[in-house]
Amino acid sequence: MDSIAEIFNKQREFFRTAETRPLECRKQKLLALRKAITLHEAEICKALSEDLKKSSFESYVTEIAMVLQEISFMLSNMHRYLQPKRVRAPITQFPSSCRVYKEPYGNVLIISPWNYPFHLAMVPLVGAIACGNCAIVKPSEYSPATTKVIQKMIQSIYPSSFVDVIQGGVETAQCLLDKPFDMIFFTGSTTVGKIVLEKAAKHLTPVVLELGGKCPCIVDETANIKLAAKRIAWGKCLNAGQTCVAPDYLLVHSSIKHSLIDEIQKNITLFYTEHPENHPDYPAIISDRHYQRLTSLLRTEHVIWGGHQNQKERKISPALVDKVSWEDPLMQEEIFGPLLPILSFENLSSVVMEVSKKSKPLALYLFTTSKTNKKIVVHNCSFGGGCINDVIVHLASDKLPFGGVGESGMGRYHGIASLDAFSHSKGILHKSNLLDIPFRYPPYEDKLRLVKKFLK
Ligand code: NAD
Repeated sequence: MDSIAEIFNKQREFFRTAETRPLECRKQKLLALRKAITLHEAEICKALSEDLKKSSFESYVTEIAMVLQEISFMLSNMHRYLQPKRVRAPITQFPSSCRVYKEPYGNVLIISPWNYPFHLAMVPLVGAIACGNCAIVKPSEYSPATTKVIQKMIQSIYPSSFVDVIQGGVETAQCLLDKPFDMIFFTGSTTVGKIVLEKAAKHLTPVVLELGGKCPCIVDETANIKLAAKRIAWGKCLNAGQTCVAPDYLLVHSSIKHSLIDEIQKNITLFYTEHPENHPDYPAIISDRHYQRLTSLLRTEHVIWGGHQNQKERKISPALVDKVSWEDPLMQEEIFGPLLPILSFENLSSVVMEVSKKSKPLALYLFTTSKTNKKIVVHNCSFGGGCINDVIVHLASDKLPFGGVGESGMGRYHGIASLDAFSHSKGILHKSNLLDIPFRYPPYEDKLRLVKKFLK
């Protein structure tokens, strides 16, 4: 097996051959990837079941389909979007024309986490390939079965000089981060995101950081309670709450709190029976460390429903936790598991104030039928993105940029945003040789007066 340095150098050389430049070549690479994913579908599902006990349905919908959709988007849009784009030239530079050229960065590093181990390694890779880059992917060491399939699949269709997958943990990631990549795309925790940014600064490498945080879910008194409860229950149970954009905690108007809680319980029971921890469709917690972390957070007398444990399977049923305050341990860090703290409020402006005091979340959700309340929240809270009257699904739109702000990250991707993320926009002004207006050349004499009239 080649060392990191060998693969990095090989990719550098390969990128310089300009073989990744023609759009047709990128298209062929994406078609090969689509074919390989379809061929490996059963293996990918098996690996996701091994790593996280995900059902085939959840694996297909939240992991495989997301990658296939991104490939389809690129195949239909990249030709148009990556063409040099003519923009208006300034009159002061007459006669000239201006164009923006989208050029690949070159050698890209993609580091991904374990919670959607296929989706989060592959969707960025699709963007990197569409833009004409070479890439090294370092998936998480905590989802080893999926990492193995990704490596096998990629190595079966691409030469290592174009795209390669490197297995390993922190040490491997740090070793990769020491290399002067042309761009780094990192998905993971805020703590590690800061390390990545520090390492990237050494080589002035541009980065996209897709990080985490606590995503609030607000339900006001005008909301459709039944639908809100069903959608919240779905979003919190998906991947057993191990979703970066899962509703982390509930902020519910006190007048509807009890009916909302009742409905959430009913829906979870409908989805997974009264014992989700024994249900085959309900995913497991990734590791013993996370299982211990979550069960110790459950040691509070305010669990009003759920929280049953199946240690053998490492599953915890969704737990509703009432009478939570902003100071509770549950409210200090991203939960990243199936625990749902519930806080109530009397007026929305106090909620907006509290949420604005915290780190800017990756996502925020509001359930309401009030246009005024929607305006108040969307215009006054800063967050990566979100939904009104739903959770999580904003990330399924290739027209919406996906990414965080502040502590939840920087940069964005998905669809067109990926084409921007993985390429440099190079502006070129092409001056005509037919005419050369002498105005800008010295001696300046009284030209300043004229300039001031003209340039304002
Ligand atoms: P993590 O930050 O621990 O690990 C992510 C990746 O970084 C892994 O590949 C890991 O090997 C590597 N890594 C870990 N420590 C490192 C170090 N010191 N130096 C260099 N690399 C290192 O995150 P995780 O536990 O795998 O994933 C959970 C986190 O990811 C949560 O905070 C979640 O919100 C976030 N996340 C964000 C998104 C998003 O799209 N914004 C998506 C999924 C998960």
